[in-house]
Amino acid sequence: MSTRLGRRILTTKDTKENSNLIFLSSFVYFVSFVVIFLFLPVFASAQTPAANSKLYSLDEALAAIGPAPTFRWDPFFSSGVFTVAGHTAAFAVGEPGGTGLLMVDGREVFTVPVPYLVRGLLFFPEGFVTTAVGALSRYQAEEASRLRIAAIIVDPGHGGKDPGAVGEFTIGGKLFRSVEKDIVLKVSRQLHTLLSTAFPDKRVLLTRTGDTFPSLEDRVVIANSVSLKENEAIIYISVHANASLNKAVRGYEVWYLSPDYRRNLIDKSKYDDPDDIISIRNAMLEEEFTVESIMMAQSILGRLNESVGRSTPSRGIKAEEWFVVRNARMPSVLVELGFVSNQEDALLMADEAYLKKITEALYKGISDFVSTFERSGGLTGIQ
Ligand SMILES: [Zn+2]
Repeated sequence: MSTRLGRRILTTKDTKENSNLIFLSSFVYFVSFVVIFLFLPVFASAQTPAANSKLYSLDEALAAIGPAPTFRWDPFFSSGVFTVAGHTAAFAVGEPGGTGLLMVDGREVFTVPVPYLVRGLLFFPEGFVTTAVGALSRYQAEEASRLRIAAIIVDPGHGGKDPGAVGEFTIGGKLFRSVEKDIVLKVSRQLHTLLSTAFPDKRVLLTRTGDTFPSLEDRVVIANSVSLKENEAIIYISVHANASLNKAVRGYEVWYLSPDYRRNLIDKSKYDDPDDIISIRNAMLEEEFTVESIMMAQSILGRLNESVGRSTPSRGIKAEEWFVVRNARMPSVLVELGFVSNQEDALLMADEAYLKKITEALYKGISDFVSTFERSGGLTGIQ
């Protein structure tokens, strides 16, 4: 019933299929219009509305429903649709004093005192207007409070005096060096470009843009100093390359913080609560960040498998107590792109096309996580 009403109200184009219906309903509306017109004084006296209820003209209803509402009238169906900030309130006119349906966003239906026409002018009973205003403002408030990711921090590991892991090989009589700080900077800068283009409404930050060495503390300060509104979240991706004494070891892996590690997520000085309350709050935040971090790690690993899984092995998702990840008060992951100590991996990571592929995989993994997170309105909706 509600869907049919919605479809009819929102139909603006005639089709052969419903032309008879249109004729019939137009006729019915014409007749009821004549009846209303002729007997209006009778209705008015017989069905006096509640003493204090107001009757709104279209202009008054628009002013009440605003800000910046639009109104579309369909004369065939004698129906109207108010639109405010992308939300709609649709109705079909009825008889003065009667009740009718108000459909909001095509999904919620209210029975309300029905709007009606008198000599071509629309009148809206107070009950209709207050219900529409209430539902529309509730939808707008829900939308505004939905959790979104406002900032993405991309952290190229090491830099400057700290080269990170270094692999050295002699290939064809020449020395070939694979340096972590250079590889991760290239990937991170490309990733930054991809993310900034895809999410112009989010702040995408790099902890370093050149061959500099922000300390681990500096990186955390950068991450924690991003100001966020109540409903905004931030995510952190640290990019690294691996090394092993065993030169045969190769592949990529994604890390998140071990849930066993106890973090001090909440600044105690900001709260007067006793310590146990703070620990409960910490535990809740920690749980949330861990679940989100695992989800992000899974999204990224899935895309890496898809993209470069045939070139080098997937070493899976791992949990660790990395400093950067541990102290960032946000869902965070650390990606190890490959092993600079393994010649095949090192050669792959020296290839621009391969780096582009791996960067696109990171970008897709992060995007997947962002859309799941925002669609579900944050962690609470994610099972
Ligand atoms: Zn590293």
